Amino acid sequence: MIRRLVLASGNSGKLREFRRLLAPLGIEVVAQAELGIAETGEPHHTFVENALAKARHASSLAHLPALADDSGICVDALNGAPGVQSARFAGEPPSDARNNAKLVEKLAGIADRRAHYYCTLALMRHGDDPEPVLAEGRWEGTIIDLPRGSGGFGYDPHFLDVETGLTGAELPLEKKNELSHRGKAIRSLVARLKSMR
Ligand code: IMP
Repeated sequence: MIRRLVLASGNSGKLREFRRLLAPLGIEVVAQAELGIAETGEPHHTFVENALAKARHASSLAHLPALADDSGICVDALNGAPGVQSARFAGEPPSDARNNAKLVEKLAGIADRRAHYYCTLALMRHGDDPEPVLAEGRWEGTIIDLPRGSGGFGYDPHFLDVETGLTGAELPLEKKNELSHRGKAIRSLVARLKSMR
């Protein structure tokens, strides 16, 4: 039974969110930075490979179970791009403004605006775990040319949620968590962990 795990991420928002959701299961979440573990790269072509690599790295060094996530936006007309390159779509240093400008430019004249956010989570009980627990979540939407809203981050001002007609940047945080790829993946992981007890 898992009582303590290391989160393979330096993002304080994610740390808070995972702590809140895993505390009711009696699982304590420690940030990898607190254990002196640096972030690794995301060199792979798929989200799941990146999440597994990050979880394996943290678990091996911490000698604890580790949880990692990888996420991004996939646009149908661009064959799934930006995909795993979402954070650095317009190159270094990462910039939401340049990423969004590049996305809108690439879709100029293209009628098919379908896109989805995707998130995968990987939990490894130890660095050599042959059967990691995986969970995923998707959030369907369309890309709009003109940004709307001031909340969220990343591609949210250009990502229109089909169901509500609001962008990711217009949705209140609670509602975004309910609809989002990350919210769905976390709830799916929590359900898996509960069923394993
Ligand atoms: P990461 O998995 O947190 O590293 O996210 C990768 C990149 O995907 C981010 O830098 C954003 O560009 C994009 N992304 C992931 N999730 C979201 C979201 O909920 N809203 C907007 N952009 C997102």
